[in-house]
Amino acid sequence: MPQDTSPALAGLRARLQQYLQDELIPLEQSLGLGYEDKFARDLVKSVWKRCRELGFYGAQLPREIGGQGLSYRDLCTLKDDVAASGAILFPHVLGDWGGPSRIGNLIQYATPYQRDRYIMPVVNAERGACFAMTEPQSGSDATRLQTAAVPDGDDYIVTGTKHYITASMFADFAITMCVTDPARGADGISAIFIDLDSPGVSLVHDCVPMTGQYVDADIVFDRVRVPKKNLIGQEGQGFKIAMNRISVNRLLHCPTMIGLARQAFRLAVDYAKHRQQFGGPISRFQAIQHMLADMATALYACEHMVLATAARADAGEDVRDAASMCKLFVSERCFEIADKAMQIHGNVGVTKNHPVEFIFRRLRLYRIVTGTSEIQRNTIAKGILA
Ligand SMILES: Cc1cc2nc3c(=O)[nH]c(=O)nc-3n(C[C@H](O)[C@H](O)[C@H](O)COP(=O)(O)OP(=O)(O)OC[C@H]3O[C@@H](n4cnc5c(N)ncnc54)[C@H](O)[C@@H]3O)c2cc1C
Repeated sequence: MPQDTSPALAGLRARLQQYLQDELIPLEQSLGLGYEDKFARDLVKSVWKRCRELGFYGAQLPREIGGQGLSYRDLCTLKDDVAASGAILFPHVLGDWGGPSRIGNLIQYATPYQRDRYIMPVVNAERGACFAMTEPQSGSDATRLQTAAVPDGDDYIVTGTKHYITASMFADFAITMCVTDPARGADGISAIFIDLDSPGVSLVHDCVPMTGQYVDADIVFDRVRVPKKNLIGQEGQGFKIAMNRISVNRLLHCPTMIGLARQAFRLAVDYAKHRQQFGGPISRFQAIQHMLADMATALYACEHMVLATAARADAGEDVRDAASMCKLFVSERCFEIADKAMQIHGNVGVTKNHPVEFIFRRLRLYRIVTGTSEIQRNTIAKGILA
């Protein structure tokens, strides 16, 4: 990411680098962590706590609740930095997996009870949250949810299955999209906080992605009793709450992809300079140079597109279409960058658990997650033709 940052952000970035390089990566090495390990909840929570102490975890939150009030633009810079660092636990540093990113804009809807029980414990790195919308029969068409919340006195009885829910393995509760009025379609969907240790809740790990990471799970709700005071906002407001979050989320996935692609690019440059074939480094071949040139050009375009969109979001503009453009362009270009990095590495790049091989697999997921490339194109086209 560019160096035109404020002194405050430059200080935060320097402290972040120091933590990543001097503390987190050495800790991972001493524990022998691999990308596909099942991380103990205690380990993950200790990283959250440490990052909270250092001011990284939830840095984007408003100052009134203990954040740094970071703009989206500055947050993009930090997200790029952590993803590019090579740390295996990098998604926990700023609170992406289970942390403040999951509670997003909910503060504005939360009652005092919800703030104390759900929002502040996440802010303080004491509890983890996940966002549960997708179901086995409802993916891109998120208005066709089947998980039902049926009123019963002061409670709802929730029944249904949520599929592929990131960070559910570390979460204490799920922000769950439920149908409260089946006759009203999207306007009959409500958002409810559900504690994952409630009787009738179980996690099923039948969805390990191609990265082999143990982060996602299905959440099964079998007649789970949930107090009505856990309803977020009003009944029927859930879909709107989810969609508001999804636009910004689409944008905020981009710096993570860019950071991973940047890591692959750096590794490819280094490898090209050192790998000797036909009597010298492979970097002297124009074919290799052109791949590096294309990678650098794509990174530059992705980075500036995302920062420009983040600046517009900071200025209060509606960036729904631009966020979809970023998600589409960045996910597809970064995957191509990883593919080229793999090509430059030859057999080393396709060897299981080499960083470039892992990044290639990880970046492939982003063309599906938070709305597929096709759904982004639909959103962009809708904006054009409106
Ligand atoms: C690693 C991972 C993590 C995830 N984390 C979460 C999470 O934390 N919370 C959560 O709620 N969900 C999560 N998901 C689910 C994710 O959001 C969905 O997978 C995604 O929305 C796509 O839905 P689907 O997989 O059911 O595909 P489908 O909707 O079945 O789509 C299948 C294909 O049809 C295409 N298609 C569908 N509709 C259209 C259309 N109208 N026009 C053109 N093409 C179309 C799609 O683009 C795709 O190519 C996660 C998924 C993965 C893989």
